[in-house]
Amino acid sequence: MASLSIHRNDTVQVLTGADRGKTGRVLRVFPDKGTVLVEHVRVVKKTVSSKTRQRSKGGIAEQESPINVSNVVLVCPNCGPARVGFKVGGEMRVRICKKCGSELPTKK
Ligand SMILES: [Zn+2]
Repeated sequence: MASLSIHRNDTVQVLTGADRGKTGRVLRVFPDKGTVLVEHVRVVKKTVSSKTRQRSKGGIAEQESPINVSNVVLVCPNCGPARVGFKVGGEMRVRICKKCGSELPTKK
């Protein structure tokens, strides 16, 4: 299985596109495609038919679309946007911030 350095519930910053500079929480990760869904990033308005209409009264739902992981960078809680490294200890592979060296545990 492919594994990405970005995990669900991480905070990431967008590097490209209309949402460049925005930060958001990772809602979903798609390892096969190498994309992530980031809260409030790449929001598209979808017209919803009356049958499936649930979220909004006007028939328009806002929904995020996936963005490539290479277009986002993880935000380290200590020092801000940073590259991710890995530290292997036993069977555990821990993500670390390459800038300040602190561990970046995966939030559940
Ligand atoms: Zn850091």
